[in-house]
Amino acid sequence: MKCWICKRQARGYGFTDGRYEAADPRRYPMDWVFCSRRCQDAFAAMYGNWRDGRKGGLAMSVSDIEQGARRACLKAFGAAAGHIGFDKPLGAYSEAEALAVIDAIVTRYSEAMVEHHEASKYPPVRGLENPVSDPLADFDDDIPF
Ligand SMILES: [Zn+2]
Repeated sequence: MKCWICKRQARGYGFTDGRYEAADPRRYPMDWVFCSRRCQDAFAAMYGNWRDGRKGGLAMSVSDIEQGARRACLKAFGAAAGHIGFDKPLGAYSEAEALAVIDAIVTRYSEAMVEHHEASKYPPVRGLENPVSDPLADFDDDIPF
């Protein structure tokens, strides 16, 4: 059996479909098996979103942070596509051109998510005057020991 999330070998973690009564075979989907508690938890979060979304008629929701990061990609996408030429249809892109567009979008998305993380960090102890973000930043060498 494969883990439903990561496709590694499943190791005894499962999930019951709480929408159905005990003894109903639909309560125990055979494919909902996992390799670890981490993958089981990830599935539980997805299942909760999916179940709640069905009630409200919404699909899985994208957070405002992710939505903002997607919007931040528009400029990078435009720049990469402009470099290739806006007249060229997407279907005519070479592999290298398509990869250049994907790289521009993925890079900008990652940067936007990191920027949000950096901006939303707060010190773990209240009242610290100068919280340390990277304790090894003042080392001359990147191999301190
Ligand atoms: Zn897994």
